[in-house]
Amino acid sequence: MLNLRNIPAIDELLALPQVITLLNQYNREFITANLRQAVAETREHLRLSGKELSKESLIADIQERMTQLLAHSTQGTMQTVLNGTGVVLHTNLGRAPLSERALSYMQDMGRNYNNLEFDLGTGERGTRYHHVEEILLKLTGAEAGLVVNNNAAAVLLGLNTLAKDREVIVSRGQLVEIGGAFRIPEVMKQSGARLIEVGTTNKTYVSDYSNAINENTGLLFTAHTSNYKIVGFTEEVPLNELVALGKERQVPVMQDLGSGIMTDLKKWGLKEEPTVQESIATGVDIITFSGDKLLGGPQAGIVAGKKPIIAAMKKNQLTRALRVDKLTIAALEGTLLEYLCGDPLRNIPILRMLTASLDELNSRAGLLAKMLSESMDNRLVARVKIIATEDMVGGGAYPTYKIPGYGVQINFTDKYLDKIARRLRGKNPAVLTRIQDDTMIISMRTINPGEEVLLVDTLITVCQEMLDYSSMAEGNPCKD
Ligand SMILES: *Cc1c(COP(=O)(O)O)cnc(C)c1O
Repeated sequence: MLNLRNIPAIDELLALPQVITLLNQYNREFITANLRQAVAETREHLRLSGKELSKESLIADIQERMTQLLAHSTQGTMQTVLNGTGVVLHTNLGRAPLSERALSYMQDMGRNYNNLEFDLGTGERGTRYHHVEEILLKLTGAEAGLVVNNNAAAVLLGLNTLAKDREVIVSRGQLVEIGGAFRIPEVMKQSGARLIEVGTTNKTYVSDYSNAINENTGLLFTAHTSNYKIVGFTEEVPLNELVALGKERQVPVMQDLGSGIMTDLKKWGLKEEPTVQESIATGVDIITFSGDKLLGGPQAGIVAGKKPIIAAMKKNQLTRALRVDKLTIAALEGTLLEYLCGDPLRNIPILRMLTASLDELNSRAGLLAKMLSESMDNRLVARVKIIATEDMVGGGAYPTYKIPGYGVQINFTDKYLDKIARRLRGKNPAVLTRIQDDTMIISMRTINPGEEVLLVDTLITVCQEMLDYSSMAEGNPCKD
């Protein structure tokens, strides 16, 4: 038990010059807690290995563990990811990365006091909803707008405001579940509205809605089923017909648009998604959509439509619970300003990715393939080549549409693939790739220009680790 006695006391460790340096950077409790954990780990290591170590080696061991612990615990759990999957709006990867304009606006408003709820003209209390609304109206042609926490909240608020204790008529074909357990029937229930299903899974006609309207009807509801698609013999009522019916029978119409695209991307093959402007132009009473899907902004739920309805939504007590914070408002205004007076196709990251040309993607894939072939160890990598990819919009939009793109395909020698993919996920930034036909594919569309060097460096590091590990494990890198 002599070796355990060689472990210095915490006070002694706290007096080491290196630790004193750390005490100048971090608070004492934090350092002491990490030292205790490092000591515990060293003690456990000694117990398991039965090794006998000098006091100097023990101190070195404790300090080494301390360094690792600090690297880990001074960092939050969120970290950046290099997205090589080719899925542009990846809900698990935070959906839309923000534009520079949105980020700098958000930083400014986050760092400083601001006029969130203050009217600088009158010097009196203002409203936070004023901010985004003005730009939103200019962009969409709507009469009024409101922003809440996310689209799920916008739908809930719309239903609750217009149809609490009343009936809402919905097509059976639209009773969908959207990623993250947003189920339209469940949201209806929570809102206090009664769901009246009409039509069948594949076909619903305007007469189905019309026949279901009675004195208890509060709302005609339609959802753009952007995350799934029934193919074959289908019939849905176009929004303008539903709007005409609503006008005739004096029942408001609400559309859950889901993605909320503001720029026409038909030229780029993205045809199925109606734009926000197109929906508003039908005269629909209100529409709701997400801020962080095809709009390319922060998480938010945007409501646009008729003034009296939006005014009623603003007054609803629920709004207070669903309200957005200043950072979201700033990021959303920054994003919308890019649409209004900037260059959205170039500066909104997801729009840039979605409209990247095949030539550009091909030449970037060529460069990445070249960098990789020149630097990857051929004991691990059998082949690197450019490959045509099928990228995806993601985020529930364009469920069946594959966007042709280019990427790099890496064949690793023998069973390394899964281990390398796992280690890549463990790096900071983490690297996510697509595994297909026992190869690794990195799609260029979702890798930002300029990230290639970091990507290559990370791959080199991981391969080096595999080789180091394999020489330690006597030539079998697949043992871990
Ligand atoms: C994504 C989506 C939602 C949920 O939006 P969040 O912003 O994630 O809350 C609701 N409805 C439709 C049609 C959607 O596509």
